[in-house]
Formats: sequence, structure tokens, C-alpha cells
Amino acid sequence: MPRKRLDLTFPPRQSLKPVIYHLVKDYELVPNILRAQIQAGQEGRMVLEVTGSKEDLASGIEFLESQGLQVNEAASDICLDEDLCVTCGLCTAVCKPGALALSPGDYGLVFDKDKCVYCEACVVACPRRAITLTF
Ligand code: SF4
Ligand code: SF4
Repeated sequence: MPRKRLDLTFPPRQSLKPVIYHLVKDYELVPNILRAQIQAGQEGRMVLEVTGSKEDLASGIEFLESQGLQVNEAASDICLDEDLCVTCGLCTAVCKPGALALSPGDYGLVFDKDKCVYCEACVVACPRRAITLTF
């Protein structure tokens, strides 16, 4: 089943609208909120993973845009500067979903994109500032 990761920006007037409910009810999409910062009356941000047919995904995105939301594909890359990384493993310790791990063979840092929820904990934890995550 196709799946997309979306980076949603809610304008202040839409911050409390139940748009996720409509994605389920009207477009048969399965949403998974990976990250959200929503407050009444303020611009909000949400990283949302949605699963559904190609047609339903397209219709659901069209619906979100019709509600005034800005919809972008969420960036799905973490950039690691290998020259800066000293493979200390600190980032793996804070990565709760287990998206980062040290390879048992050569102790290189391994990133599993599918497990990442874009929490930025690794970016903050890295003492060498070797990780950047862009949306
Ligand atoms: S915390 Fe930074 S230096 Fe340590 S393994 Fe992770 S990326 Fe490399
Ligand atoms: S952004 Fe969060 S989930 Fe993704 S690799 Fe870093 S710590 Fe793990």
C-alpha cells in the first residue's frame, strides 16, 4: 500500500480543525502522526505519515490544501558528516525508535530511514554536530 510522509503547516485559523479525522472518514487513509506542534490560534506544524491508495492519497492531499494547509513532502534524509562523526554512539542512545545503530561489524553508524520519526533528538545529542535533519 502506498505511503507518504507529509510536512503540514497549519495557518492559525485552522489550527484546531479536525482534518486528520476527515482523512480517515472521507478518504479512507490511515494516518500516523510522527511529530506535531499545534496550539490554538497559532501556526502549527505536523509531520504525518499517511497510507492509502494512490487515488485516496491524492484526494486527501487535495482536501488538506483546500483547508488552507501548506502540504509538502517531508524530507526523509538525515545527513551525517562522516568527517565529523567519531562513532561514539551517543545518538543511538537517544534514538527511541531505533533508527540509528552502530554496525556490529565495523561500528559504523547505520540509519534506518523507515524507523525515523524526525524528533531531532540525535541532532541535539551529537557533541560533534555531525547530524543535520532538514524538512
Ligand atoms: S553522536 Fe555524533 S559523533 Fe557520535 S556516533 Fe552519533 S553522529 Fe557520530
Ligand atoms: S531524528 Fe529521532 S528518530 Fe530520527 S534518527 Fe534522529 S533520534 Fe532517531
